[in-house]
Amino acid sequence: MTDMKTIAARAKELRALIEYHSNAYYNADAPEIEDDEYDALMRELRELERDYPELRDENSPTVKVGGAASSKFAEVVHEVPMQSLQDVFSLEEVKEFCEKFADSHDYPDVSYVVEKKIDGLSVSLEYTDGVLTRGSTRGDGRTGEDITENLLTIASIPHKINTTATFLEVRGEVYMPRRTFAALNQAQEENGLKTFKNPRNAAAGSLRQKDAAITAARGLDIFVFNVQQARGIAFATHSQSLAFLQSCGFHVSPEYTVAANYEEVAAAIEAIGRQRGALEYDIDGAVVKIDSLSLRERAGVTSKFPKWAVAFKYPPEQKETVLRDIEVTVGRTGVLTPTGVFDPVLLAGTSVSRASLHNQDYISQKDIRIGDTVVLRKAGEIIPEVVSVARHGDGAPYRLPEVCPSCGEKVFRLEEEAALRCVNPACPAQLVRNIIHFASRDAMDIEGMGPAVIEQLIAGGRIQSPADIYQLTEEDIASLDRMGKKSARNLVNAVEKSKSNPLYKLIFALGIRHIGETASRQLAAQFGSMQALMDAAPEDFAAMDGFGEIMAESVRDYFSTGHARELIARLGACGVNLQSTESEGAAASSDALEGLTFVITGTLEGMTREEAKALIIAHGGKASGSVSKKTSYLLAGENAGSKLTKAEELGVKVISLDELNAMLSQA
Ligand code: NAD
Repeated sequence: MTDMKTIAARAKELRALIEYHSNAYYNADAPEIEDDEYDALMRELRELERDYPELRDENSPTVKVGGAASSKFAEVVHEVPMQSLQDVFSLEEVKEFCEKFADSHDYPDVSYVVEKKIDGLSVSLEYTDGVLTRGSTRGDGRTGEDITENLLTIASIPHKINTTATFLEVRGEVYMPRRTFAALNQAQEENGLKTFKNPRNAAAGSLRQKDAAITAARGLDIFVFNVQQARGIAFATHSQSLAFLQSCGFHVSPEYTVAANYEEVAAAIEAIGRQRGALEYDIDGAVVKIDSLSLRERAGVTSKFPKWAVAFKYPPEQKETVLRDIEVTVGRTGVLTPTGVFDPVLLAGTSVSRASLHNQDYISQKDIRIGDTVVLRKAGEIIPEVVSVARHGDGAPYRLPEVCPSCGEKVFRLEEEAALRCVNPACPAQLVRNIIHFASRDAMDIEGMGPAVIEQLIAGGRIQSPADIYQLTEEDIASLDRMGKKSARNLVNAVEKSKSNPLYKLIFALGIRHIGETASRQLAAQFGSMQALMDAAPEDFAAMDGFGEIMAESVRDYFSTGHARELIARLGACGVNLQSTESEGAAASSDALEGLTFVITGTLEGMTREEAKALIIAHGGKASGSVSKKTSYLLAGENAGSKLTKAEELGVKVISLDELNAMLSQA
C-alpha cells in the first residue's frame, strides 16, 4: 500500500502543477500543455481528494474557478457567480448524471438540453433597459475584468435589444472562427510576431487587450448560452430563455437539442461528435443541462459548478492512414526536420497529408517506418501528429540521413539536443542567417552590411561564404538596390576595418553552436590563435573554468568539417586577424557572485544556458542542475517548466537575465 505521506506529496505536486498551467492558460493566454493532459492532472487530484478526504482543501484547484482578474482592467463583481462545469469523459458518466435525476421523485418530468461546448472565453453581458451597459470576463468566477469597450467591437453583440426586461445579464462564449484564426496566425508569422497556439488562446489574447482597436481587428464572434439574471421577464425553462435570446438578435448556442431522457442525450452527444471536425469553430465538448429552471434550483450548486449540468469531453479525433514518405529538410538554424507524407485523411475539418516527425528519437520510439499504417490525430485540434503505428508495412526501421540534404556535409547530433544539425558554415540553407550573424555588431561589426544588402549579395551569387565578403569591390556593392557610390565606399571601408578585429569577435562571428560572446572571449584567451583553437584536443578545454563539455564538443564538431578549415584559411589569406591580442580574454570576471548558487532554466534571450553558466562561474558563482533549498537564485527564461514550479514552491528567488546582468554591473 502506498503510504499517506507519498499520497499527500503527490496531491501537493498536482496542485502546484495545475496552478502553474492554469496561470499559463487563463492569465497569460499561453498554455504549455494540451487540454487532455491538463484534464488528466485535474482528474487525478479530484480522485485523490475523493478517496482521502483529509487531503481536501478550500484552496485546491478542484474547488476554485479558473483565472484571476488582471489589474489591467477595472474589476467587476459578478452578482451571480460565473461558474465552471463538471467534466465527464464517458457516456457511462453522462448516464449516471441523467439517471440520478430521472430516478428521483424530486425531479418529475426532468428533461435536458444538450449544447455544443464552444471553446472560447466566457463573458457576461449586462443590459439595462435594453442597452448594453457592461461586459466582463469570468476571472475567478466572482470577480472579473471590465472589458465593455472590447466587447462593443464584436459585430454580433447587440448594443441594444428590444425587450420588456429592465435588467438582463447574459452569459456567452467569445470565440475566434477557425478560418479567422488561420488568417491571423499567417499574418502574425509574416510580420515576425508570435503565433497563437489555438483559436481559444487567440480569442482570449485578442479580447483582453487594453486597446480595443486591436480587438476590433481580430474578427471575434460570440455564442450566448445562458440568462444569468433577468428582471421584468421570466422563463420556466432554459430552452425558452434561449429562444428569447434568439428573438433579441443574439447568436445563440447553435443547434441545441431538447432531450427527454438519457438515450436522447447520448444520441445528441454522438451527433455533435460526428460534426465536430467540420464546424467553423472549435468545441471542446458537449454540455448537458437540466431544462427546467425550477428543477435547476432544486439541484443547486457547489462552490465550483452547478449540479444541474455536466460537460462531456470528446476524446481527440483519430484516423488511420498510410505513411508514404519521409521528407527531410534543413532549416535556417541547420536542424534537420523529418516530415511524414501520408495519404490524405479528413481530421478535425481539414485534409491532413503531412505531419512533423520531429527527430530521430521520436521516429525510433514509435518505430515509424515508410509504408506503415499510422494513427493520426490533431493535437489541440490544430497540429497533426502521429499517435502510434497501427501496423508495419514492409519498410525497414527508419534512420535520418547522416549527411545534410542541402550541402552533403556530415550532420551532428549535439549532446543535449534530440535534433541532428548541419554545422557547415557554407550550407546554402543557412547562408543568409550565418552571414547576417557574421556581420552583426557583436560579431565582425561591419557597419552597413544588414539583411537587405546580404540577401541581395547572396541572391546575385556574389557571396557564398563569409570569406567572400572580403573580396567584394565597390562596384559590386554600388550595383545593389538603393546603394550609392558613397555608401558602397563606406561599406568597403567597414569590411576593411573588420579585418583587424580582436580574435574573439571572429570566433563569435563563426556562429558555432553554444558559443556566444563570453565563451568566444574565453577561447581567444585560452588558445591565443585560431590555429591553436582548431588543433585543440578535448583535454585542452577541460582546464577552462565554466566551459562545459557540450560547448567543447560543439567547437570540435565545427572544426571537424573541411568547410570550416577552408573558411579560416581563406579569411586568413584575405588578411583577417587570426591571432589573439594582449588585452583579449579580459572577459569581465569578478567575485560578484561568490557564495551564490544558481540554477538555469528556460530559453534565455541572447545567451545559451551554457554561456550563462560560464558567466556565473566567471563571476565566482556556482551553477547547479537542480533546484533545492540551497539554491540562491533560479535564472529563468521563456518556457521555464518544472524547475520554476519547484523554485516557487521552495520560495527560491526567480530572476531574469536582465536582473543577473544588473547584479553584475553593480559589482
Ligand atoms: P470549462 O471550460 O471546462 O467549462 C466551463 C466553461 O464552458 C464556461 O466558462 C463556459 O463559458 C463554457 N461554455 C462553452 N459553451 C458552453 C455552453 N454551451 N454552456 C455552458 N458553458 C459553456 O471550465 P474551466 O474550468 O474554465 O476550464 C477547464 C478547461 O480549460 C478544460 O477544458 C481544460 O482542459 C482547459 N484548461 C487547459 C489548460 C492547459 O494548460 N491546457 C489549463 C487550464 C484549463
